[in-house]
Amino acid sequence: MAPTEHRRSRVLAFLLVLAAQSVALPAGAADTWVIPAAKIYPAPDVAPIEDGVVLVRAGRITYVGTRGSAKIPKSAKTSDCAGGVLTAGFQNSHVHFIEPRWEDAAHKPAAELAQSLQEMLTRYGFTTVFDTASDQANTVALRARIEKGEVRGPRIFTVGLALFPPDGIPSYLHDLPPQMLARMHQPRTAEEARAAVRANIAAGADGTKLFLHTSPRQGVITTMSPEVARAAVEETHAHGKLVMAHPTTLEAMRLALDVDVDVLVHTTLGEKSPWDAVTLAGMKSAHMSIIPTFKLWGYELKKDDVPASVVETLVSATFRELQAFIAVHGQVLFGTDVGYMHDYDPTDEYVLMAKAGMSPTQILESLTTAPAARWKEDAKHGQVAPGFAADLVVLAADPFEDVKNFANVKCAFRAGVPIFSRPILSTEAP
Ligand SMILES: [Zn+2]
Repeated sequence: MAPTEHRRSRVLAFLLVLAAQSVALPAGAADTWVIPAAKIYPAPDVAPIEDGVVLVRAGRITYVGTRGSAKIPKSAKTSDCAGGVLTAGFQNSHVHFIEPRWEDAAHKPAAELAQSLQEMLTRYGFTTVFDTASDQANTVALRARIEKGEVRGPRIFTVGLALFPPDGIPSYLHDLPPQMLARMHQPRTAEEARAAVRANIAAGADGTKLFLHTSPRQGVITTMSPEVARAAVEETHAHGKLVMAHPTTLEAMRLALDVDVDVLVHTTLGEKSPWDAVTLAGMKSAHMSIIPTFKLWGYELKKDDVPASVVETLVSATFRELQAFIAVHGQVLFGTDVGYMHDYDPTDEYVLMAKAGMSPTQILESLTTAPAARWKEDAKHGQVAPGFAADLVVLAADPFEDVKNFANVKCAFRAGVPIFSRPILSTEAP
């Protein structure tokens, strides 16, 4: 290496260190921080620690254990957020940044964005979110401002612009801004699908979202051809990323399985028959994951004034789909479709997951260790353990006593930095 090159690479390394610090650390983050908790759930399948402490330094967890056995440096500072039930930060694997409040994220005042992020996500303990389709440039701009430390918010992953069948933008998306609708990919050939995937990834996408069956108009169903879908999946996998799909119907689910999709972002609503054994076995052997989005179904059906008893019957059928999937040890990821769904509160989703038969341990997995494993981050995320990222949530009460407490959040930390703490700063009446 020539001396100038050497010097340049050292300067670059120094700049990268600075950049990394501005992402992860607040002023004085070289300090050790102590977060005392009444109870800590280090991981879903690990016994809780009563009267515990977590020590955090430079964005990472350095110690987890009982307060009595902790070696706390004299210079350590104690967090204001003490006394709750602490666990790993949650991931919502199905969100959208598509409401008007996110428009022009590159220029919107930081405080406004921070408040929106708090209202939709961080006040519910989401320290990582996966945006499963939005106006990509805008979401990437939002993410950049968070990563620069300008706006406090969660880690954001995005699939960018979704891929639809030709003339297949679903009717429920027709209200989106026309400039966004115009940019949506509707590949007609395998090569167009590959090009769309490459363009998304080059612009910062972390995966691909396929709409396999859509209804652009009342009574019309359009389908993505297997060749186009397969090409999109192969191109995404070649970049080391995952494909998420909107299944809509059992038939589309089988297509998703055939073309090797990784994550289904919903169960299927209104199917006449339950998921069959062959499909379930195929999903299991293909390591396909599912995001149930139970609350969304009632929310959607209410728009059409469907009677409560019919809603109950339809949603119960989706419980049985998930139960059959869990019975074959399929991986469940937590997600709500929030952002598309204007009701941000995930409490009902936890209640419905429990009603479908999921234990608090399984729900905690879907929020923490399962998404970390799915996106190959399980060596650094999803647990409260030494060496792991200090992405943490502190709940006001124990979710193992009542699953509603998963939404009863006192504070949330990302890389040791508080990104939410009560009281909630919002437009809510005092
Ligand atoms: Zn969605």
